[in-house]
Amino acid sequence: MVVTHLPTPAATAYAPAPHHRVAVIGGGASGVLTAINLLGRSTDPGLRVEIHEASGIVGRGVAYGTNDPRHLLNVRSRHMSAFPDIPSDLIEWARRTGRSEDPQAFLPRLDFATYLQDRLSQVADHRLTICAGRVDDVVPVGGRFEIRTNDVSSPADSVVLAYGNQPPRPLVLDGDELPAAPWHLGNPWDLGALRVLPADATIVVVGTGLTAVDTVITLLEEGPQRRVVMVSRQGRLPKAHVAQLSTAWVQPVPEGLLTADLLAEHVREQIGAAAAQDVGWRAVVDGLRAATPSLWKRLPLAERRRFLDVHAREWEVRRHRMAPEVAARIRAFEDDGRLSVLPGGIASIADRGLHCQVLVGDVPTPITAQAVVNCTGPATDITRSADPLLLALRERGLVTPDPLRLGIDTLDGGELVGEDGRAVPGLFAVGPPRKGTLWESTAIPEIRAQAAAVADGVIARASIGAAAPA
Ligand SMILES: Cc1cc2nc3c(=O)[nH]c(=O)nc-3n(C[C@H](O)[C@H](O)[C@H](O)COP(=O)(O)OP(=O)(O)OC[C@H]3O[C@@H](n4cnc5c(N)ncnc54)[C@H](O)[C@@H]3O)c2cc1C
Repeated sequence: MVVTHLPTPAATAYAPAPHHRVAVIGGGASGVLTAINLLGRSTDPGLRVEIHEASGIVGRGVAYGTNDPRHLLNVRSRHMSAFPDIPSDLIEWARRTGRSEDPQAFLPRLDFATYLQDRLSQVADHRLTICAGRVDDVVPVGGRFEIRTNDVSSPADSVVLAYGNQPPRPLVLDGDELPAAPWHLGNPWDLGALRVLPADATIVVVGTGLTAVDTVITLLEEGPQRRVVMVSRQGRLPKAHVAQLSTAWVQPVPEGLLTADLLAEHVREQIGAAAAQDVGWRAVVDGLRAATPSLWKRLPLAERRRFLDVHAREWEVRRHRMAPEVAARIRAFEDDGRLSVLPGGIASIADRGLHCQVLVGDVPTPITAQAVVNCTGPATDITRSADPLLLALRERGLVTPDPLRLGIDTLDGGELVGEDGRAVPGLFAVGPPRKGTLWESTAIPEIRAQAAAVADGVIARASIGAAAPA
C-alpha cells in the first residue's frame, strides 16, 4: 500500500492512459470495502485505486474511529464480516488475533477498524494508493474526472463517493442556531472535547440514539462524579440485543398497494405470530432487513413521508439496538441516579459564559450544565450542507438530493443521478448517503453488498474502456 500525495498533472492534458484510475473519496468502512472489492475482484494490472481520506488513516471513519474500547459494535461479529459470502471471516480473525472466541460477541469498534485495515492490506498491491487529504471538488473533464484537494489534483476514470456520515446539524432553538460557546459541543465524535470536561460536570446530551449512548458511556465511565441528562422528543433509548436462538423471522409483505400504516400493521401482526411460536420481536425486525430496500421502493413518496413522521422512531429503537453489555451499563447509571432520560426536548438555554442554564423535558426542569452535546445524528440534507465537496458537486449538477433529503439520489447499481435526472457515467456512491433511495444503507451488512456491486460496475466500465479503440 502506498501512502502519498499525488503529483499535480496539467488539468487538461490527460492523454488516454493504459490504466483505469478509480478515485474512492472517503476511507471509512465504505471506501475501504469498495477498494477491497475492486482489488480482490479484478486481476487487471491496469486498474489503479486511489483512496482519498481526509484524516490520512483508512478503515476508521466516524464509526470505527473511536479510541474508547467501551464503544462496542452494535451488531454481532457473525453479521459484520467484510464479505457476505464468508460470514465467518470476522469471527475467525477475532479468534486468530486473540480478541474473542465468541461468534455472538459485540467487539470494540476500534478492533473493527483494525480488521478492515488488515483485510485491505491482504489485497493491497502496487495498484493501491492512499492519498491523505480532503477532496474539495470533482470536475468532469472529457468523459473522465479531475479530483481536486486544496493543493493537488489528479485524474480519475471512475469515482466512488464514500464520504459517509456528516456531522449533526447545529442545534436550533426558537429558530436560531445555538451560539458557539465553551459549553456547546457540536461534534459528539470528538472524544477529546468530552474527556476534558470537569470531573463533576453536569452534561445535557441532546439525542437518545446510539451515538448519545456512546457519549454517556465515555462521560460517566471516565468521570464517576459526573451527571448526564439525556433528552429527546420522545425520550426513548434504543432497545437492547438479547441472546437469540433464531436470527430472522421472514414473512413476505403481501403484494399490492403498500402504505406506511399497512406496513406497520404487518410488522405488528408478525410480531404477534412470532410470539405465538415463542419467537421474540427482534427476529421479526431482523427478518425484514433484506427486504427493506424493496419495501421502501414500494411505498409512494407520501407514504415514505408518513413513515418518517409516524413510525420511524418506533422502528429505529428496535432496529438499531445496543449491545447487552452497553444496555447494562446504561441501566446501572440510571439506577445510580447519575443518568436521567427525559422526553420533551429542550425548552430554552441561557448562556452563562463557561456554563449554561437549560430548561429540559416535558415538565420543564432547570439544569445548570457545563456542557450541551449535540447527539442528534448525522445531518443528511445536502442542500443545507456547508461541506465543500457537496457544495461543489451540487454546483456542477453531479448530485441531487433525494426527495426526503435523507441523502443523494442513486440508481440500484450505485450510479449517481445528476441534476438533469440522468445517471452520471462513472460516478458512484456507497454507504449512508444512499439512505433516501434504500432506507437501509448505513450498516456493514448493506454496505459490503453495495461495495461489491459498485466494484463490479466500475470493473465492467474499466473493461469497456480498455476494449475501446484508442
Ligand atoms: C458512531 C457510529 C457507530 C456505528 N456503529 C456501527 C456498527 O456497530 N455496526 C454497523 O454495521 N454500522 C455501524 N454504524 C453505521 C456506519 O455508518 C457504517 O457501519 C459505516 O461505518 C459507514 O462508513 P462510511 O465509510 O460510509 O462512513 P464514515 O465512517 O462516516 O467515514 C467516512 C470517511 O470519509 C472521509 N471523508 C469525508 N469526506 C471526505 C472528503 N471530501 N475527502 C476525503 N475524505 C473524506 C471521512 O474523513 C471519513 O473517514 C455506526 C455509525 C456511527 C456514526
